[in-house]
Amino acid sequence: MNDQPFLIAGGGIGGLAAALGLARQGRPVRLFEQATGFEEIGAGLQMSPNGVRALKALGAWEAVEPSCVIPSEIHVRDGLSGAILQRIRLGKTFEERFGAPYRVCHRADLLAGLVTAAKRNFAIELNTGKRATGVEDMGEAARLGFADGSTARGAGVVAADGIRSTLRAAVAGEVAPTKRGVILYRGLMPLQRVPPEIEADCVTLWLCPGAHVVHYPVSNWRNFNVVVAVDGTLPDEGWKTPAHSGEVPKRLPGVYRELSLLLAAPASWTRWPGTDLGALPQWTRGRVALLGDAAHATLPFLAQGAVMALEDAVVLARETARGPDLPEAFRAYERQRRERTAKIQEQSRSMSRIYHASGVVAAGRNLTLRLSGPSFALGRLEWIYRWTPDATG
Ligand SMILES: Cc1cc2nc3c(=O)[nH]c(=O)nc-3n(C[C@H](O)[C@H](O)[C@H](O)COP(=O)(O)OP(=O)(O)OC[C@H]3O[C@@H](n4cnc5c(N)ncnc54)[C@H](O)[C@@H]3O)c2cc1C
Repeated sequence: MNDQPFLIAGGGIGGLAAALGLARQGRPVRLFEQATGFEEIGAGLQMSPNGVRALKALGAWEAVEPSCVIPSEIHVRDGLSGAILQRIRLGKTFEERFGAPYRVCHRADLLAGLVTAAKRNFAIELNTGKRATGVEDMGEAARLGFADGSTARGAGVVAADGIRSTLRAAVAGEVAPTKRGVILYRGLMPLQRVPPEIEADCVTLWLCPGAHVVHYPVSNWRNFNVVVAVDGTLPDEGWKTPAHSGEVPKRLPGVYRELSLLLAAPASWTRWPGTDLGALPQWTRGRVALLGDAAHATLPFLAQGAVMALEDAVVLARETARGPDLPEAFRAYERQRRERTAKIQEQSRSMSRIYHASGVVAAGRNLTLRLSGPSFALGRLEWIYRWTPDATG
């Protein structure tokens, strides 16, 4: 057994999850995050049953669960008329169908839970303020180089450095994220600020011409998360750019009254361009593997970006435990994750066309939603939600 540590670049959801997974297989791990702390920003995340299962397999569910919210139902509504097109109950029947619950949480809470779980594990060393700038496969080991001139040596490197990955080029060549013609806004407010007309204990999806809105409570009912997606383009500004005051309501004129009241409620919004990654020629090269957004960043319309990174971590850790051939273990991880994550990326892209339809296409969509009912909708999500930690595809 090679007891050199694993090196992980990036302390986001994927990097921390990979650290937990590898440490649970008995491997020492050194994780390097570029920021001076583990970033407590971002917005709401939907933790579908496959994500809950991955967190359990990583030993992190206990640390994450207390800050999650149990929503009562998912509502799909027409953004112009306000009509409820579909209503999905999230209680016992849902849990029995998928074998795990559905929760919503804030990215910061998920990250904090993963950090807590990692700090409890003596095999994991967490380093902040360390920006990885290069990686080298040296045959029997791999080396990570940092912006401060230092280096670290380990059995292998997991590059979990996000959609704008620096290390990706060493594995897959230069591949830039692709803008997908959509602008995303997020607003977060205390739960008390939510207009009383809004059913605050539900996950609600509003479908509007050229836009959609998703909202739900987070952080153990303290805050309320609103995400708005509208057709359009933006320059690349990162995750933290404030939107101009009044910008969001102006982008959705003529929407149903309840929805317009909600859009006026957050004190501030941030915005970012909706981007994802096209298929990479490869995710692994020798002793270096890409994981999470660095390998397969997706639009958030199936709410699976963070969950796919958690699943990656489970599979990568499992494959590395099978034997001493690390490059082969990394290739096995890639083989098992490629198809599923590509399908998530593809379906997320097509969701925006369906969600943002107008005129007769929207009328047809609404009729289909009404007639098909919740069981049909859940049936279409089974291939995502039924994933288990021993799945090989
Ligand atoms: C600040 C932030 C806010 C986000 N908000 C949302 C959101 O509101 N909605 C949504 O759907 N998704 C959001 N995401 C993306 C979502 O969290 C990811 O899809 C998902 O968590 C995948 O995780 P990841 O670990 O692959 O990438 P990320 O969560 O992006 O983590 C990558 C980590 O690597 C670090 N890093 C980057 N480059 C280097 C380097 N060279 N050396 C060392 N460390 C490096 C970054 O600082 C970051 O901590 C956000 C991501 C971030 C970083």
